[in-house]
Amino acid sequence: MKTEHVRTDIREEKQTMMRDIFELMDQYGHEQVVFCRHPRSGLKAIIAIHNTTMGPALGGCRMIPYSSTDEALEDVLRLSKGMTYKCGVADVDFGGGKMVIIGDPERDKSPEMFRAVGRFVEGLNGRFFTGTDMGTNPEDFVYAARESRSFVGLPAAHGGSGDTSIPTALGVLQGLKATAKHLWGTTDLHGRTIAIQGVGKVGGRLLELLMEEGAHCIIADLNESKVRQYKEKYKEQVELSEVNIIHRSDCDIFSPCARGGVINDQTLPELRCQAIVGSANNQLVEDRHGDLLHEKGILYAPDYLVNAGGLIQVADELEGFSEERVLAKTKAIYDMLLQIYELSEKEQIPTCRAADRLVVERLEKVADLRRILLGWGRDARGR
Ligand code: NAD
Repeated sequence: MKTEHVRTDIREEKQTMMRDIFELMDQYGHEQVVFCRHPRSGLKAIIAIHNTTMGPALGGCRMIPYSSTDEALEDVLRLSKGMTYKCGVADVDFGGGKMVIIGDPERDKSPEMFRAVGRFVEGLNGRFFTGTDMGTNPEDFVYAARESRSFVGLPAAHGGSGDTSIPTALGVLQGLKATAKHLWGTTDLHGRTIAIQGVGKVGGRLLELLMEEGAHCIIADLNESKVRQYKEKYKEQVELSEVNIIHRSDCDIFSPCARGGVINDQTLPELRCQAIVGSANNQLVEDRHGDLLHEKGILYAPDYLVNAGGLIQVADELEGFSEERVLAKTKAIYDMLLQIYELSEKEQIPTCRAADRLVVERLEKVADLRRILLGWGRDARGR
């Protein structure tokens, strides 16, 4: 009797777990979730493929010491969904995917672990492509790429396209110009004040581009020697701010280029800019913060469009990398953002919702086209 009870409990527990995973997949709209385990190397990883309407899933592989499998699962589901929107809005023929490795990047990495990652990714047979993200670097994937052809963003010596922060910063500049055009009728940023939070790889490059444009910049970074160096180099054209108050700066445009979640209940009432255009991922804590910005009359450039330059570059590697093509597609961020601003104005909806709507429309159009069969075994891009 007792044993039977235990069995029933286990069965119920298993059913609950499976139901929860499928419920989560339904909630986010996922196609496939793959759990990967290799005990000898210690690999515990999850691959989430959100939507392959536009093409194979593409998204980075991050390594974080998540406190639980649930936390890792939530993260990979949320991020892979974001990639569907990012690919859709950037007009690259890829879908949304992401991989997470549960582990400490400082302690748990080994060549064997990344070769195991390679074998699991290869097992998806071209349905998923990946590369670096938080906690992983291009060198890690040199091992993975020995087991699979589905890796992008390798070091240049191994056939990769190099530093993605260059096209990312260029994309943010296009976003700033489109915003200036929409607000002030000109793309000229000369004399405009832009507050940059974080002058790392993207923010630092953006600062250099803005100096060439003749803009005035307020900058803040946790790394004080970095901001001091920029101050010495650019003198009066650059002003320094404290990291915890840069969002309050009196400026034309606030540019978050450090971490996500900077637009939240605490910071939102303190903003004194006309627009927000930056590279940081997931700037809005929740969609409702996009609604509040809209009510407040602050123009928000959706982050997943503005920071798509890096994605455009790695996606292009899979087409046989062309710098010229990457540049042209990154410059197209300008037109796409103007389209989003126009839709937002016409429909009186926040820009983040206008961007989501444009992506969904794009996906529906492509899904409809892909109903046309190309012929037995001839569907494009491995579909
Ligand atoms: P990075 O690590 O090179 O730079 C981030 C900088 O922000 C660092 O100098 C850091 O000291 C600073 N910083 C951290 N917390 C801060 C705070 N609270 N206030 C002020 N400064 C702070 O990273 P990156 O590659 O320049 O990326 C910046 C942002 O852009 C990230 O959110 C990243 O996810 C996003 N992004 C980057 C790329 C890319 O190609 N590198 C592409 C898309 C999106």
